[in-house]
Amino acid sequence: MVVKTMRALCLLVAAVLIAVLAGCGSEPDPAAEGEGESVEAVAEVPSGPTADRKVVALCYHSIADESGSTYELAIGDFKEQLQALADDGYETVLPSQIADYLEGKGDLPEKAVCITFDDGPESILTVSKPAMDAHGYVGAAFLIADSVGGDGKLSWDQVRELEAAGWEIGSHTCTHEMLTRVSADTCVAELEDAREGIAAEVEGGCDAFAYPNGLYDADVAAHARDAGYRIAFTIDRGPADQTTDAMFVPRQMLVDGNSLKTFRGWLSQEKLHLEEIDPPVGERLSTDAGITARLADDDVPIDGMEMSVNGSPIKYEGDSETGMLTISPELNEGANNLRINFYGSPRREVSWVIVAE
Ligand SMILES: [Zn+2]
Repeated sequence: MVVKTMRALCLLVAAVLIAVLAGCGSEPDPAAEGEGESVEAVAEVPSGPTADRKVVALCYHSIADESGSTYELAIGDFKEQLQALADDGYETVLPSQIADYLEGKGDLPEKAVCITFDDGPESILTVSKPAMDAHGYVGAAFLIADSVGGDGKLSWDQVRELEAAGWEIGSHTCTHEMLTRVSADTCVAELEDAREGIAAEVEGGCDAFAYPNGLYDADVAAHARDAGYRIAFTIDRGPADQTTDAMFVPRQMLVDGNSLKTFRGWLSQEKLHLEEIDPPVGERLSTDAGITARLADDDVPIDGMEMSVNGSPIKYEGDSETGMLTISPELNEGANNLRINFYGSPRREVSWVIVAE
């Protein structure tokens, strides 16, 4: 008797639920609207961040008349890249806007690029910024806090000049320590002291971070979050989108000799989506560890990807029934870069750092 009553109750609840759910997709109830608002006006209210935005973040260092090293681009090449962005209709966004998007608090333009500069060279203000101004573009400068005002570096006045022009000022630690190689205490001090030091000199605070040499693990990322950073950039490859962890936002590193064709390829590609990555991104592994993950992109054939570790191709196995991938990365001791590409249409890419010990 009790069982029968329970069953009847369950059916009633289910029927009510179905009725409520069915109502979600129908016309809004006029009684629920504010005074004087038409149904059309309600429908136009933005419903939050657009789900399928992606953003390509670029990582530059210095720009000069001529390239003097791998990480110093010639101004002519930089201007060509900016022109390619402008021709394709790209708009620049700042790290805090990406953080807002990932936190569900703000939207991004349809074609978003985030132009960042590491290490705080003076050329950001004297060479890079004028070229970007010509397109109405703004960027972000990640400063090595203790080297501000040093030889060839921005001074605090120049940093404030950038900020006043709409740029965002972020942190790249105090002394450019590689954070996966230092003690927890040193790591925390590098993160906290740099954030406080920079925030004391600028108006807009210091909520964005870039990992020196792109090196991170789960502990470093947790320390960065605890230090108060809302977003942290790697130099992993591929674009960011709504599925990206704010503490591991990839940036494409630009070096001398990148062709314009290669550059355009980075802009057009999509993120390659993996789920259930095990062990998860950031976990330290033994050098002979294996990784499993589930391919989440329907347009990527399970056997159609190319994978590499530290630039050397590796094999993987894919189960077409379940979408599960088994990767045997053959890691070196220290930091490794696992990269996964799909060269179909659209091109897709994802990569991450694996610290092995
Ligand atoms: Zn750096």
